[in-house]
Amino acid sequence: MYTLDSYDVAVVGLGVIGSACLLELARRGWRVIGIEQSAASRVVGSSAGDVRMLESPTPVSAARAAAEKVSRVLWGRLEREAGKSLIQQTGSVTLSSGGRRCPADAASSSGAEELARLIPWARIEEGMEIVHDPHASLVRAEPAVHAMRRLGSRRGAKLCFDSTASLRRSPGVGGQYALEVGGSRLSAGTVLLCLGPWMAAAAGDELRDGLRIERVATHSLSTASVTSMPGDSPYVCWLGAGYEFAVIPVAEGARSRFGRFGLGPAESVSMAMRPIAPAELDVDLALLSRWAPDLAGIRQEIKTVTSAYTHTLNGEFRLRRLASRVHALTACSGRGFKFAPLLAQEVADILEDCPDAPRLVETQ
Ligand SMILES: Cc1cc2nc3c(=O)[nH]c(=O)nc-3n(C[C@H](O)[C@H](O)[C@H](O)COP(=O)(O)OP(=O)(O)OC[C@H]3O[C@@H](n4cnc5c(N)ncnc54)[C@H](O)[C@@H]3O)c2cc1C
Repeated sequence: MYTLDSYDVAVVGLGVIGSACLLELARRGWRVIGIEQSAASRVVGSSAGDVRMLESPTPVSAARAAAEKVSRVLWGRLEREAGKSLIQQTGSVTLSSGGRRCPADAASSSGAEELARLIPWARIEEGMEIVHDPHASLVRAEPAVHAMRRLGSRRGAKLCFDSTASLRRSPGVGGQYALEVGGSRLSAGTVLLCLGPWMAAAAGDELRDGLRIERVATHSLSTASVTSMPGDSPYVCWLGAGYEFAVIPVAEGARSRFGRFGLGPAESVSMAMRPIAPAELDVDLALLSRWAPDLAGIRQEIKTVTSAYTHTLNGEFRLRRLASRVHALTACSGRGFKFAPLLAQEVADILEDCPDAPRLVETQ
């Protein structure tokens, strides 16, 4: 028996990574509590927004490509468990120029005729390397996070929203860590910090080391009137000299989104999320005019959201031990959403001391 305020694991931060860990640990029968600073109805950090790509449009190692496939299967399982549509197989087209390469093992290149049929709204220039992946998918980001939280709660996890946790680093009676959450006290055998871009600020230099907060802007515009862009159009990424740019048609609401994969580093989450500067917007609009001229005329309807994600050195996913059973999971490197269910399995394996297996997560 256990009291209501004693848990095996406290997961602090319920973005996609914390929510996936919460669900996986609850599935395995752990007594879990999830603590999130924002309201239950909201997704605020790097995981906020409408969609995320489940396959990488840029070249990745063979190990990463294999991990994407495993994670894609786990996303399918989550969608079935949630009983609602979370994933849309749209296909993707990657177009590279200026010395950039497409992903090596992506599906076949398509002929010009087929591309003209698939993405008549996108400009393709002579000499570009082209890869069409008909299996590429998008996941509905915020509904996916809510589904993980809900499924975790159904399996017995306790959820605390509008709450931050303060933690004493050394375990107390019975080896439990004491946490103050919203004026109440609880204890947990293990604490897992999944703070996304807030990680760098949370625990001082030991966490800041090797982490970088990246600023990103996504713009959305209504493409309902763009007849060249059907709702089921694949998303398109252009890899050029010094930039990666994407246009993602989102069937829901007929709003498409576009943006570069990063505007550069920021000192803090709030600096990353400051409003878009005219010069930054100009660069994105110039790329839109160049690569998707049919969309470039709809400027008055553009809505921009700025957000933050985290880069780690070498793009690794890392689980850092801060104290005997206090771990910080940094799962980002810009494209971490797709790996969330797989990382959660690996973290649960590590916490259960399962024998070593090849992992994406590096333990430190
Ligand atoms: C615009 C954009 C596009 C992206 N596109 C893709 C893509 O196509 N494919 C892909 O795979 N990845 C993509 N990524 C990256 C991916 O979304 C992130 O890697 C992932 O969402 C990180 O999740 P997280 O849970 O680690 O962080 P977050 O989602 O930021 O979660 C951290 C949570 O911790 C909470 N928190 C922080 N401090 C505290 C505290 N003290 N107490 C309680 N709670 C706290 C925050 O409120 C937040 O909910 C994109 C990111 C962005 C921003």
